[in-house]
Order: sequence, then structure tokens, then C-alpha cells
Amino acid sequence: MIQALKAEEVLKITGGKLLGVSDGSALSQISIDSRQILQPSHTLFVALRGAKADGANYIPTLIQQGVRHFLVHEDYAPSKEILHQAAFLQVKDTKVALQQLAAHQRSLFTAPVLSITGSNGKTITKEWLGQLLSQQFSVAKSPKSYNSQVGVPLSIFGIQPYHQVAILEAGISKSGEMSPLEKIIRPDLGIFTNIGSAHEEGFSSLQEKIREKLILFKDAKFLIYCRDQELLCQEIEKEVDPSKLISWSKEKAADFRISYKIGESKTRVILVKEDLSTFTFQVPFTDHASLENATHALVAALTLAEDPKSIQQGLDQLRQVDMRLTLKPGINECLLIDDTYNNDLAGLKVALEFMSQQRPKRQKVLILSDLLQQGSPEKIYAEVADLIRSYHIDRILAVGQEIKRLSETFPNQTEWYPTTENLIESLQISSFQNDLILVTGARDFALERIVNRLQQRIHGTTLEINLNALTHNFNFYKRQLKPGTRVMVMVKAFAYGGGATEIANHLQTLGADYLAVAFTDEGVTLRNQGIRLPIMVLNPVEESFELLREYQLEPVVFSPVFFKKLGIYASNHNIQIPIHLDLDTGMHRLGFEIKHIPELKNLIESYPELRIASLYTHLVGADEEVHHEFSLKQLDQFMEMKKEIESALTYRPLIHALNSAGIIRYPDYQMDMVRLGIGLYGVEVTGKHHHELKAVSTLKTTISQIKTLAPGSTVGYSRRGQLPEGGTIATLAIGYADGFDRRFSMGKGYVLIRGEKAPVIGNVCMDMTMVDISQIPEVREGEQAIIYGEGIPLRDLADRIGTIPYELLTNISSRVKRVYYLD
Ligand SMILES: *Cc1c(COP(=O)(O)O)cnc(C)c1O
Repeated sequence: MIQALKAEEVLKITGGKLLGVSDGSALSQISIDSRQILQPSHTLFVALRGAKADGANYIPTLIQQGVRHFLVHEDYAPSKEILHQAAFLQVKDTKVALQQLAAHQRSLFTAPVLSITGSNGKTITKEWLGQLLSQQFSVAKSPKSYNSQVGVPLSIFGIQPYHQVAILEAGISKSGEMSPLEKIIRPDLGIFTNIGSAHEEGFSSLQEKIREKLILFKDAKFLIYCRDQELLCQEIEKEVDPSKLISWSKEKAADFRISYKIGESKTRVILVKEDLSTFTFQVPFTDHASLENATHALVAALTLAEDPKSIQQGLDQLRQVDMRLTLKPGINECLLIDDTYNNDLAGLKVALEFMSQQRPKRQKVLILSDLLQQGSPEKIYAEVADLIRSYHIDRILAVGQEIKRLSETFPNQTEWYPTTENLIESLQISSFQNDLILVTGARDFALERIVNRLQQRIHGTTLEINLNALTHNFNFYKRQLKPGTRVMVMVKAFAYGGGATEIANHLQTLGADYLAVAFTDEGVTLRNQGIRLPIMVLNPVEESFELLREYQLEPVVFSPVFFKKLGIYASNHNIQIPIHLDLDTGMHRLGFEIKHIPELKNLIESYPELRIASLYTHLVGADEEVHHEFSLKQLDQFMEMKKEIESALTYRPLIHALNSAGIIRYPDYQMDMVRLGIGLYGVEVTGKHHHELKAVSTLKTTISQIKTLAPGSTVGYSRRGQLPEGGTIATLAIGYADGFDRRFSMGKGYVLIRGEKAPVIGNVCMDMTMVDISQIPEVREGEQAIIYGEGIPLRDLADRIGTIPYELLTNISSRVKRVYYLD
């Protein structure tokens, strides 16, 4: 923080009211996370209210840990025991108060503040610009993509008095969100990276989205943008005072005219200013997106009057790395968290928090390097030690000179290596078994070399799962529900292809109430991987009774015969088994029909060992308006059957009927619980709210080879691909065995390369597919191709081959590695 605050100052800034007593401490830390408190007596804990949790629940524990100041909602009433132990600063809304505190800190910072917004490239541009500027200045920047209503204030609290420039990212997802961020950041200089063309969630048009984002720069002195982006350029030049604008362009007149000389692995970037002064830099990239991000960073660095020589030194260290925190399968059953681009304390906190949310493993291992952080090492490493302690790390591998200090604090847990090379030489792969390993450190240490050793080989094709998008979609459906309605999430079929274990684990942290799988062994896997939520099994068989019991799985019972068998089993073993009754109201798949009800009531009486946890039915056409009447009939019949069954019970089971589409279409029938499936994975099948969901999975592959073919050539088996005029094709490392449907052959399907459509040419092969890239310039071997994800929607692909998104999702082969990330 720039300046520590006393309780009374906090009250003044936030308009709050004091309850209890303040000991008058200077508050130099503001925290919203009970596990990240480093100096309890100097911490102001802000109790935020979220969809799943209320920060206020942690207050009693925090008081025990020594925290004495809490910012709380005005309806929070501390109990008598704690009232005299701490100060409770009551405000109307703690999130707003957090923002007010941030705005206040910001107003005390007099050095330049630069802010970045746009659709893509914000985080990379911020990181790269940070790298360039840190050659000459002491730079504060937002950790990761901390760019939201809460992330921005937290970023501001990371600014210290010694910083000479601050770079903050701002991201919004709907109208009205930028104004609060602008009030906090109040940037002097801005960068508008670009505007996506894909979909406009939360905005009525792209223009509106641009104008909303421009609010960030309303009082900025300068705004950097690229004139080659048609729509963005138009709006900016219409809305913003021309004297503030700093433009760059490859094609048009601009403050900086840019040309790129693209080589094998590097590009020479030449910038010519209007007065013809010229700057030349070498950047270690050749692809379009990286060049755009790097050019924004270059123009900003030059605008801040950084010396070109130090800019080049900064450029030499840039690497094209994955900025995201990713979770991947490791060797020996380990789970690997890759955060090799992190280089400060704030980033370390994010990574440790993510680690703490993963399912339990044998040990928690932390591999980390020196942090490249300004300030005194004593203080910084004392904080690192506190953090490590509060997250209960079992084993630490420390790389670097400064981090050696940790071995004084953790003598029995720390192994110390002076350099990354030393660690690689002595790395004993076999010492990692079923561990959770976090690899994190400053980029100079190139710890990705360690990740490469510890991860399972990933071949060309990967399925990336965006956990933030999953959270977003879960919360979208939560918002459709009345308070108290529970959510069962369907993680059958490998969680619709996304990977059941990691998704189930994430849902557990999000606060889902129930999980459902199709078969018993799917449930067993989840239990073996440490998932604790109740799990319903849709289609159990008699042979699995032992497993159901051993692993505490709750079977669906769908016929009198099955009821009786399970009842006998339970009474022979003298155990209670929670069961779920499937009532068939029209699906005609499994389930009790009306005619079974009398028999069912007798069975319920005869086998009290089977405890009915829930009663449900399944709608056959909730996604389609044409079936509206039928759906209502099903729901009516369900209510009738439910009433009958309840009359035989002395307790009340949970009642549920709605799947994802039902949640949207039949809000009056939420009852006790809903069963969320495809919606969580980003497909809103009724089409009513499609833009409000985010794409969760991206299937990617790489280009193995590129060929230029003469007129009349044919491509692939049976000569089905025809190139009468010749052309260029790329061979992709994905085929129907990976789940790329063979029906995409012959131009039915396409992939995205450099953001452009490349149609499939010829037949999809078992492990490979050829696409026509004649229309896409400069493509190279090794580049990525997107099979589906943002910008290439599943529904469109499914329509093209006459199927449904469900099938495409669940068809991805298990040989395709799943990688999870936070963006
Ligand atoms: C799969 C399934 C769901 C979820 O359906 P979505 O359309 O994916 O939301 C709900 N209930 C039952 C019984 C299911 O089998």
C-alpha cells in the first residue's frame, strides 16, 4: 500500500460506522482472503459476499489469528464474545468500500499510471510492457489478470511508495462496469489493445462495447491504439479528443508508422514518427498477435520516454510464454500446476490459493525461484515464509541465491539449488509420486524446463478447460435459481468430455450440492480422487452393490425389480442406503411409471433400509418450444406421482425435474434442486441466453506439415480432396480417433488458423486431418489450429454435420490431454 490507514480514516473514506473497539493500529494490508493474512495485527479484513460464501464467516477464526479490524456489511452483527476484541467497520456494501479504499490509495500515488483494456492481449501486453519498463523504472503491475471489480482494487493495494510507474489492467463483461474501475484507476496513459469480433456478451453492439471501455480513458492524457483496426479506430477517433491520441499503423498515416521484417524466429520492428525520427527493435516473435501486443508495449515505452537501448534489453528477455496458471497431468500420477511466468509475491499468493483448491494428493510440493521483487529481501522472504506456512507445504525445492533464506525457516522441508541447471541435474523424478506440485518463479530462471520434465508428454492435440468460464457459467445458472434451490451437476461421460475429476473438484469449491454420474465406476474414480460431494449414480447394476456401499454412492432406482434387489441387499447387510427414484413421465428410458406406484409404495414400506433421498423426472424436450405442452404435461404428472409416493413416507425427499434447458424455460418448477448439465460447459441449448455463457473448452491441435500442391492434385484417401487450381494445405495432428468427427470431411468442417477459417479438405483420417490454407498467408509448421472454442462455436459445428453439441463434447478421446487454467 502507498499509505497505511487508521480505523477512523477507513471510516471517513467509506462512510462507515464503528462497532467494537480499534486498538489504533496502522493498517498496511488489506485482505479479502482469510488464508492470505501475513501480518494479522496490521490487516484490514474485508468481508465480501459472493455467490458461494460470505467472508464474514471467517471472522471468529481470524480474531483467533490476531486480526483486529474488519470491514463488514451493515447487517453483520458480531456476537458478544468478539465485540470487544476487534473493530467492526460497518458499511452498506463492502465491495464498494473496497473500491473506495483503492481510489483513495490511488489518489496518493503521484507517478504515472498506465491502464490497459481491450478484448485480447491485455495481460500479455501488461507483462511485456512491465518487462520493458523495469529496465529503467521500478514497476508495479496487476498480478495475473486481476482486472475485475475486486481484482483492480487488490492490484492498487499492491502499489508501494517506491514504485515509479504502475500498469493496471481493466476488464469488463457488461455495460456499466467500467465507470467504477475508472474512478479507481484514473489512468494517465491508456492502451486499447483491440476489440474482438466474436460475440458481444453483455453489450448491445460492438460499438457500445468500445464506448463502454473508452470510459476508462475519459481523463487520461494519452491513449495508444492501432489505426488498422477499422471499427475501433472509427469509434476512438469519433469519441476522444484528437490531442490525446497516439496512434500506430502499418498502413495509414499515424503518429508511429510501423513496418515488420519477419525472419525465421525474430522480427525487426521499425517505428517511424511523424518527424521522421526512426526506432528499430528486434522482437523474438513472428506471429501476428504477439507483434500487435509487442508494438503496443513499444509505443507505450517510447511515450514514457524510456531510453531505446534499455527497451531493447527488455525485449531480449521477452519470451512467448503461457501467462496462465495451468493445471496439467504430471508424471507418476502427480498433478502439476504450472506458473512459471510468475515473478512476484502477489502472483505467488494466487498460485498458492489455486493449489489449495485442488484435490488432496500425497504431498504438496512447491518448486520456486527467487522472486524478482524490489524491496528488502529480509521482508519479502519473511512474507514468503508466512505464506508457505499458512498453505501447509510439505516439500520445498528452492532455486536461486536469495530464496536460500527459506531453508533457515524450513530446515527439514527445503532442498536448495543455486541455479535451475543444478536442480535439473539432480532432479529425481521417482521422488515425486501422486504429489501436487506447484512450479512458480521468475522468468529468468526458466522453470518451464522443470515443468517439461515433470509433465506427461502432451502430443499435438489438447483440450483446454477454462475454469474461470466454468465458474462464470455456474454462477449464471445460480442466478436463475430461487435462494435455497440446490444444484446437482451432471459430470457423467467424463464431465461432458471435460474431465470429471478436475471439474468435480472445481464444482466442490464453487459450492455445488450434488454430483451425478452415469455408472458406478465413474463415481468410484471420483471418490478415489478425493471428491467428497454426494454422488448420484444414474444407471447402477446389481454387480456394483458392494462398490456403491464402499464408496458411498447413491444409486438411482428405476424399477420395482431393482428396488427389491437393492432392498434385500441392504437388509442382509443391515445398512441404510440413500436412493433416488427416477419417475418416467414421458422419456420412456428408465423409471417407474404410474402403474408401478402401488407396488412401489409397498416396497417402500417393506424396505425401510432404502432411504429415498430424492424423487425426480427428466424432461424430454425442455430445449424446444414445440414441446412446451408436453413438458408441462410431464411436470403435472410428476407432481401427481410425487404426491402419491410422499404419502407413503414419513420424511420428505428432495424433488427435482429441470435440466439446463428446463432451468431457463420453467423457472416455476425448480422445486428443491435442479440438474445442471450442458449449460455449465458453455452451451445454452434453448438459445435464449447463449451470449451470457462463456466457452469453457477449447480443442487445439498443431500443424505438422505444410504443402504447396500443383493444380489438379488430390488430397488424402480415395483422392476425395480436389485442388483443381492447386493450393496450400496444412496437415493437422488430429483425426477421428481423437474425436474429430469424420463427418467433417470434404469441407463440412473447418478449423481456425490465425483466426481465419481453414476448411477440411478430403477425408478426415484416423490421426490426421488436412485443411486448405491457401487463403491464409504466412502460416508456419508448428502453429496452432483451433478445432473449437471461442470464435468457433460448438453449436455451429454440430449443425454442420447434423448432430448436437453434446455429442461433439463427449466424443473427445481420452488420449487427448486435458489442461485446466485460470485466465
Ligand atoms: C444428462 C442429464 C441431465 C442434464 O441434462 P442437460 O441437458 O445436459 O442439462 C439432467 N438429468 C438427467 C437425468 C440426465 O441424464
